[in-house]
Amino acid sequence: MPHYPPRVSIYEVSPRDGLQNEPPLVPVGQKKLLIQALVGAGLRRIEVTSYVSPRWIPQLADADALTKDIARPDGVQFSALCPNTRGLERAIEAGMDEVAVFLSASETHNLRNTNKTIERSLQVFEDLVHQARDTKIRVRAYVSTVWGCPYEGAVDPKRALDITQTLLGFGCYQVSLGDTIGVGNPKQTQAICELFLQDISPEKLALHLHDTRGTALANALVGLQLGLFHFDSSLGGLGGCPYAPGASGNLATEDLAFMLDGMGIETGLNLPALVEAAQVAEKIVGRALPGKLHTAGLPQRRG
Ligand code: MG
Repeated sequence: MPHYPPRVSIYEVSPRDGLQNEPPLVPVGQKKLLIQALVGAGLRRIEVTSYVSPRWIPQLADADALTKDIARPDGVQFSALCPNTRGLERAIEAGMDEVAVFLSASETHNLRNTNKTIERSLQVFEDLVHQARDTKIRVRAYVSTVWGCPYEGAVDPKRALDITQTLLGFGCYQVSLGDTIGVGNPKQTQAICELFLQDISPEKLALHLHDTRGTALANALVGLQLGLFHFDSSLGGLGGCPYAPGASGNLATEDLAFMLDGMGIETGLNLPALVEAAQVAEKIVGRALPGKLHTAGLPQRRG
């Protein structure tokens, strides 16, 4: 029998990674409702927005208004995506707990997504982490396209490992590895996780899996079996795949939580409240979301 971690920490990305991929502009009041529902379901680490330029992502143009005004319950950590030191200044002004920096393991994706080479992104983040050290703001990092790149195809996991070690060396407390286009399979996930775990302890790593082709939970299971216990997910599976319009992207939080709950792995999440929250999210974006549990409902307990 594989050995599983006793508890898993879920990092919720729906208000940022989810809503930035939704065509309708969601009013700030509705975003607050979503975040309240997430907190009510037990989520304690939530990425609420992004301090990128509103010209890049109009869906998140309300980042300052949202983060300055958001209620901060005890024990809940809010994070925001942060492309540069100007973003960090905005995070400091808003009193954020945490920011997240991002880059890709493949050069073409990084250039198209951030307009920078990987080397340039790393220089920017070194300064950013250095500045954040003087505040109480923790810095998390994302490395995208670890399982494959929409432009370059296969990506050498050793390249992603080098980037991850550089980011941890700067002082990022955790690096989240992304299957950005949802092409990963369990065998590949095993190879990637084993490579990373040779050099990095599991609390410093997270998996950000996409369910675009139905393999996210299978990949998460492999990560669990290898001792990883940090996973990113998005309520309802909110957030499509930017490279395949109409396809699903992020792994749904309630589906991950349901699987973990059934395996006796603690998440601190309340499944009925997650189902209700996913229904709130569907109302907010005005469409059915791809997560399965909130559609099927919780099974009746028998006996
Ligand atoms: Mg994602």
